[in-house]
Amino acid sequence: MDADGPARAAAVTRTAAVPHPGTPRPDVPRALATEAVHAGREDLASLGLHAAPIDLSTTYPSYDTRAEAARIDEFATTGARPVGPPVYARLDNPTTARFETALARLEGTESAVAFASGMAALTAVLLVRSAAALRHVVAVRPLYGCSDHLLTAGLLGTEVTWTDPAGIADAIRPDTGLVMVETPANPTLAEIDIAAVAHDCGSIPLLVDNTFATPVLQRPVEHGARLVLHSATKYLGGHGDVLGGVVACDEEFARALRQVRFATGGVLHPMAGYLLLRGLSTLPVRVRAASATAAELARRLADDPRVARVHYPSVGGAMVSFEVHGDPHEVIAGVRLITPAVSLGSVDTLIQHPASISHRIVPEDDRRSAGVSDRLLRMSVGLEDVEDLWRDLTQALSLSFERSRESAAR
Ligand SMILES: *Cc1c(COP(=O)(O)O)cnc(C)c1O
Repeated sequence: MDADGPARAAAVTRTAAVPHPGTPRPDVPRALATEAVHAGREDLASLGLHAAPIDLSTTYPSYDTRAEAARIDEFATTGARPVGPPVYARLDNPTTARFETALARLEGTESAVAFASGMAALTAVLLVRSAAALRHVVAVRPLYGCSDHLLTAGLLGTEVTWTDPAGIADAIRPDTGLVMVETPANPTLAEIDIAAVAHDCGSIPLLVDNTFATPVLQRPVEHGARLVLHSATKYLGGHGDVLGGVVACDEEFARALRQVRFATGGVLHPMAGYLLLRGLSTLPVRVRAASATAAELARRLADDPRVARVHYPSVGGAMVSFEVHGDPHEVIAGVRLITPAVSLGSVDTLIQHPASISHRIVPEDDRRSAGVSDRLLRMSVGLEDVEDLWRDLTQALSLSFERSRESAAR
């Protein structure tokens, strides 16, 4: 189950070669936009279908107990997707598998394993490494608040060393099982050179949380990462109505993840698998459109005297973070079109105050030293018209600026 050195090198060079049953790979390479609408659906026409079927079965009938026993043995020993009916829904689900196939194709990995949420996905990765007695994790702040919390609290028996990217090589110990980074990072949008970090990791698997960039803007495996994590709740789903997580990786690590998923039960519901597959089909269009609007809003915010600092990643994307001179709480209270809410990646624009909400669970000193200022606001730009968004943002900024001036004058 443990898989370092040679396997990691193989993960980088091997092309995706393990098609899921029923969804063969195309024989010609296809562009991302084409894969987004076709991957994981190749068998539909031969089934006489256009939309993917939703299989809600929790169990599967078998009159041949010996054959079923053999399938259970095969899964327990290898973690490979069962050939034939899945036995039980905690083991595998055909609808979710379509989403896994499609996401793997977009990330350029052999496989992907879906989970009930992004946190369930990260949990499974940590448990795979712990099972190999590699409980030490090296990580770079900032990370998503709950990822930071899971590592800091050591809830899964892991131990974390926080470092900056340049300190990764020195932080690695004999029992290090994982290096984890997020780029662009939540919520500061700080970026990390994935190739440089991957080099410093040597044989230790590098996990990149790619939730913010999505495979449309960045494919970490092409730069040497072994594991790509997504909170599928965000851009992959894209409509704020489905919770999910997924790890894209080589088939060897995927097998270990499936075994952990089976044993711990953090499975994605098939209905969520269906919605995520559907979400992927519009992912490139949504990400590019929202990114263009976000870049324009970032440019205008940078020119605005009420704004102290704007964070916008070089890789692009639909997230903009900015620090205000006035009271950030008043900006949140003042928006009318933009929704004041945690989470991100939906078709509509959301704004939140990380120090109060998304990163509340990170200790104050750690939060500040990771660059999460109390004046920072994080905005997830949606698909609305840029002028409507700008009008809403400027009126909320004016309100906040005036209120702070009034309180300063008192
Ligand atoms: C939301 C988020 C997570 C956690 O995902 P859930 O689906 O909420 O469990 C992990 N990483 C990043 C970057 C996120 O934004």
